[in-house]
Amino acid sequence: NSNVQPLNDRSAEELAAFLTEQRAAYEALKGKDLTLDLTRGKPAPAQLDLSDALLDLPTGAKDEAGVDTRNYGGLEGIREIREMFAELLWVEPEQVVAGGNSSLVMMREVLVDLWLKGAVDGVRPWSAEEKVTFICPVPGYDRHFTLLDWFGIDTVTVAMNEDGPDMDAVETLVADDPSIKGIWIVPTYANPSGSIVTQEVAARLTAMPTAAPDFKIFWDNAYAFHHLTEEEAKSADILTLAAASGNPHRPIMFASTSKITYAGAGVAFLAGSVETVKWYVSHLGKGAIGPDKLNQLRHAQFFGSPQGVRDHMVKHREIIAPKFAEVERVLDQRLGGLDVATWTRPTGGYFVSLDVLDGTASRVVQLAKEAGIALTPAGASFPGGKDPRDRNIRLAPTFPELPAVSEAMDAVATCVLLAAAESLAS
Ligand code: PLP
Repeated sequence: NSNVQPLNDRSAEELAAFLTEQRAAYEALKGKDLTLDLTRGKPAPAQLDLSDALLDLPTGAKDEAGVDTRNYGGLEGIREIREMFAELLWVEPEQVVAGGNSSLVMMREVLVDLWLKGAVDGVRPWSAEEKVTFICPVPGYDRHFTLLDWFGIDTVTVAMNEDGPDMDAVETLVADDPSIKGIWIVPTYANPSGSIVTQEVAARLTAMPTAAPDFKIFWDNAYAFHHLTEEEAKSADILTLAAASGNPHRPIMFASTSKITYAGAGVAFLAGSVETVKWYVSHLGKGAIGPDKLNQLRHAQFFGSPQGVRDHMVKHREIIAPKFAEVERVLDQRLGGLDVATWTRPTGGYFVSLDVLDGTASRVVQLAKEAGIALTPAGASFPGGKDPRDRNIRLAPTFPELPAVSEAMDAVATCVLLAAAESLAS
């Protein structure tokens, strides 16, 4: 990028010339008739292929305890998969439930249970409260926000920093307002910021005094093992911290193998205090007789051990790390030094979070769409789909093949530059 004087430092004539250049570049882009998609935070087919040994498993239908996994029963999941993921998540096996294929479903179930029956440490069902509010670190995961909205739960946002949510803001909010019942956090390689909640931030979350006695941390560890570099972040030890600070029932942890084996046929996990597990399973039992234990068994056989899961994740890294490197390369090359955007350089997870000039994110997404590149709608990472600064765009590079990632990112850069030039030249 030879043209690196920050746009803000340029004269009106220089900006006008820059705008003309960017319009021409954009017209050329449109002329290519591309059809590309950076919206899908899902594994590429090559990643799914890594787990195809599952299609020939399990061998036999009995688990290690001799349970016939073809039959009803065992609501909390089979022993060996609970043990395996307990070790990976740094909890005890009796603190883990292995369920169906979706952790998001488990999160919804927990909210339903809280709503209808109240928490383990609660005084009444949340539906009996005048108002329920959740703290949402932003940018965050759109499906969390949709679910809260569906319940009629209010949201209040705090910044998601590199080490986790802005704890000064969180502590102030929870101290005074008993309607604030929870916070939803993606602690490791957050969607979309890539942030990693540190042990210090986690300790503050578990220890902070809350006006609501049944305050909950929804600890959605969807990307716990999804490292993009050899330096593997270790998730904060939230359940131990919570127990040590006298709030053992505060966190409820979720994880799944959706982006380890199959996004549509993995195994999901819930973890919490033993009381939380009993609470969850007792409510689960009103509508279920047992999970798909056969799927759990084939997963246990496929991985073999906790180390088997870690080794498997290295194969994912080899496929997707080059795609993330390509996103970074194109952004550096095309936008570096111009002061029109900042972006995350995640060391794990599935996303890159791109912040463009305030007020231009929707324009960038629109320009991209008209040039054939689908981007996640601007604002999607905020409750109600409303980014107050209209600057954040979530990029998901895992699904397309590498050449498509390059082409799509080059197009994104062209759209960012045109939107910035339009905004500054006006
Ligand atoms: N949580 C986060 C933060 C996610 O990004 C996703 C999927 O993108 C999920 C949960 C969905 O998890 P599951 O497939 O286990 O329902």
